[in-house]
Amino acid sequence: MKHLKVLLVSAALFLGSGSLSSHESTLSHGPSAERRIAAPAGWWKGNTHTHTWWSDGDSPPELVAAWYRERDYNFLVLSDHNRMQEGELWYRLDTDAKRAAFESYRQGFGEDWIERREVGGFTEVKLKTLDEFRSFFEKRDTFIFMRGMEITDRFDTHPVHVNGVNLERPIIPQGGKTVGEMLQRNIDAVREQGRRSGRPMFAHVNHPNFYQAITAEDLVSLNHDAGEGFFEVYNGHPGVRNEGDARFPSVERMWDIVLSRRLGERNTSITYGIATDDAHEYTKWGLRSVNPGRGWVMVRAKRLTPDSIAAAMKRGDFYNSTGVTLNSVERSNSTLAVDIKADPGTNYVIEFVGTRRKTNLAGNAVHVESKFDGGRASQTYDAAVGEVLLRVEGIKATYTLKGDELYVRARITSSRLHPNPYAEGDREMAWTQPLISVTP
Ligand SMILES: [Zn+2]
Ligand SMILES: [Zn+2]
Repeated sequence: MKHLKVLLVSAALFLGSGSLSSHESTLSHGPSAERRIAAPAGWWKGNTHTHTWWSDGDSPPELVAAWYRERDYNFLVLSDHNRMQEGELWYRLDTDAKRAAFESYRQGFGEDWIERREVGGFTEVKLKTLDEFRSFFEKRDTFIFMRGMEITDRFDTHPVHVNGVNLERPIIPQGGKTVGEMLQRNIDAVREQGRRSGRPMFAHVNHPNFYQAITAEDLVSLNHDAGEGFFEVYNGHPGVRNEGDARFPSVERMWDIVLSRRLGERNTSITYGIATDDAHEYTKWGLRSVNPGRGWVMVRAKRLTPDSIAAAMKRGDFYNSTGVTLNSVERSNSTLAVDIKADPGTNYVIEFVGTRRKTNLAGNAVHVESKFDGGRASQTYDAAVGEVLLRVEGIKATYTLKGDELYVRARITSSRLHPNPYAEGDREMAWTQPLISVTP
């Protein structure tokens, strides 16, 4: 009983005594300019890609969860590499950085909470399982965990990473004879677990430009049903090359290639874009640090439960943000409308991006010497693939389909700088899911 009491006191101190909204914790630091963004009613803010001591994150899962919980996130997937937070794992404190993170952990949760042992001159900490720590954080209509992991595979020198979201059990990397086959097999393993369990699950393909491993054509070729295709159109890890370069398309341009060819050539299901943090570092902050709080999703769902959130995302009922909040995004049969929750003194540009049916969708193969050994290049495409069809300066805009578009999606760019950006000069942004034009 004494043990429990100490824990509750620590947890209360840690979480701000039940008033969880906006107190700066002394235990988990962040950049001072960081912004707290609460979701409007009916919308839930979450992140599906984060690492902890269970893999290569720099902090124990409780500190990671506290960071998100204190900043008005409503759901979180602790997506460690190839494992979930279960079973027995002892974490060795063999560097000064790890010992410093441990000190924050000890101060936050108290000696009673922590299990440790001494092995070969090092302290080892027994990591808490999700089932052990989740009750400290979860609260109805406020915060939940969704179980998941980063299925971390590798083809030759190419990292092939796929997050499984709302999983019940871990998935072993499935391997494959090509990058495309490896992606397909890992996605299929998530689909199969979802089918067997009867629960909504999905896989998202991660950071395609990381080591230039995954091309637009890989994503065009994937086979999956509607509501099963996701890829990261924004990943907050500064090493993943979201923006591409002269020889490699940005991941946002890849999205347009993928949507255009899947709809225009294959007449098959679309791919949703998702924004994530892929955070690894919670003890040092700033450019080049792999921090939380950079990119997230806002999901419209009736309830805050893992199944309700996953089902809403599979319906495409979400948008991505790096700081811009929307009051609403409405996709009807023929219109896509966005309404921005404007910050005072901030200007917004709303761009509707799409591809017209008559556009030439043939790609041209390019030969590139990648700076990364063996990097793989997407093909190049006509500039009319993913063109800006309408540009509006303001806080509300509606695009009405003319009938010659394959799809249209909205991208919102704010005049406000991101407080802790992926790259210097990044503005706060938002991206909606595409509205598909139904063939007349
Ligand atoms: Zn990864
Ligand atoms: Zn990751």
